[in-house]
Amino acid sequence: MEQVQLLIDGTFVDGEDHRWIEVLDPSSEEVIGRAAEASPGDVDRAVEAAHRTFPTWSQTPPSARAAVLRKAAALASSRLDELARLLTLEQGKPLKEAKGEIRASIDALEYYAEEARRIYGETIPTDQANRRSIVIRQPVGPVAAIGPWNYPVLLLCWKVAPALAAGCTMVAKPPSVTPLAVTRFLACLIEAGLPAGALNVVLGPGRTVGERLVRHPLIRKIGFTGETRTGETIMKAAAEGMKRISLELGGHCPLLVFPDADVEAAAKAAAYRAFRNMGQICNAVNRIYVHRALHDRFVEAMVEETRRLRIGRGIDDLDLGPMTTREGLEKTMDHIEEARAKGARVVYGGHRPAGASFEKGYFLVPAVLVNVDHSMKVTREETFGPVAPVMTFDTFEEAIGLANDTPYGLVAYVFTNDLKTALLAAERLEAGTVGINNVAGGEVPFPYGGWKESGLGVELSHHGLEEYLLLKHIRIEFK
Ligand code: NDP
Repeated sequence: MEQVQLLIDGTFVDGEDHRWIEVLDPSSEEVIGRAAEASPGDVDRAVEAAHRTFPTWSQTPPSARAAVLRKAAALASSRLDELARLLTLEQGKPLKEAKGEIRASIDALEYYAEEARRIYGETIPTDQANRRSIVIRQPVGPVAAIGPWNYPVLLLCWKVAPALAAGCTMVAKPPSVTPLAVTRFLACLIEAGLPAGALNVVLGPGRTVGERLVRHPLIRKIGFTGETRTGETIMKAAAEGMKRISLELGGHCPLLVFPDADVEAAAKAAAYRAFRNMGQICNAVNRIYVHRALHDRFVEAMVEETRRLRIGRGIDDLDLGPMTTREGLEKTMDHIEEARAKGARVVYGGHRPAGASFEKGYFLVPAVLVNVDHSMKVTREETFGPVAPVMTFDTFEEAIGLANDTPYGLVAYVFTNDLKTALLAAERLEAGTVGINNVAGGEVPFPYGGWKESGLGVELSHHGLEEYLLLKHIRIEFK
């Protein structure tokens, strides 16, 4: 049985109430581990430790901060297999994908180790001969970092790495569904020599532990990834005390296939991005709009690509594992049923796979739907499951209008070989990222952030570091 504890002021401890959260393997529904649950007092002690350590860590030279991040990256690399296995067991994703997530998390530590030394200031000319104006960037203060269960290690690292590089201290709250691998990963930072109290980890339900953390008056900044509704709750809580916030929230990402596109390439990319991690990705392809002339060819190719995907336990390392939670599976099936009842046709999947190995676990065959319209939940709400609704359009304007007909604005994908279509679509789509002829995900050198109800602020790149820094103008006068 795997077990993780809270990390408070440099020490791993049980919660003071000795309560534990059970962790399930979504392929067997069996308990595989447990995580200590923090009490309100534990949360307070973690925040106080971060507050106490802030003067030390924020004044540690950037090269020394970078050295800790680099050493933690090396430690995590040496444990890659072990961390990936644990992530697969609790989250369900195939082992190779879990390894990819751990590698990308290590990449974030290394990238922000480099960026720590590039926190530059400015000198601004003044119009008085006896004055000088200098602008410096300083860490915002103790940070609360909260992440979801779909990429539990990576999405917390996207906060922990820039915050620590900037000189902030932190309290991280991993998700309750998948707390194991991320807590083990974060322990590498402590072993790498981070001062006690610079990074604390509290575990437990968002509604109690998370709320107490974000409302704590000593927290100066909240970095959050999760659902839009939770983001709203956090934004309201942050108003008290005027805390800074970065929110990476839900998505409903369109993929447009224009008449001149390579249909087979578009279908292959769509199947990959709609179903990877069982559709439990904020930037999953959620709605597909294909030019009417290409519709039948596209659907045929998409079904063929989907049929090839092999489903099994994450540990068997096939293409798809189970969904991570029973609620997620039920919500996805409900969305498919609602669409079917309103006239959609399920041309592939949408049912539990047959066979003895699928009797337990949250398995689902990915679904391809046609005859879909915008009255259906699959086009309006974030399903967060493996469902690909395909619709048609006739004109460029209609395609853009349909793609933007959503409160979300995270990522949009365009397939076309016409430069004008590509550029105009990229400019007109309301999203923080637009992929042209590719469906690549977030990568550390490039800014990643949501427009509209998909979030506030950005993560990744040097812009992501700015989220943990404040500007200070120093005006000097001399005789
Ligand atoms: P939730 O919003 O339910 O939870 C996210 C985290 O917030 C969890 O750690 C949760 O704790 C905690 N939490 C819940 N309620 C509160 C609260 N009131 N105060 C403080 N913390 C709270 O999201 P999910 O875990 O279900 O993750 C899926 C969502 O994340 C999807 O909407 C997805 O689109 C989004 N996401 C966005 C990304 C982006 O970059 N824009 C990337 C990946 C995912 P607990 O686990 O205990 O419930």
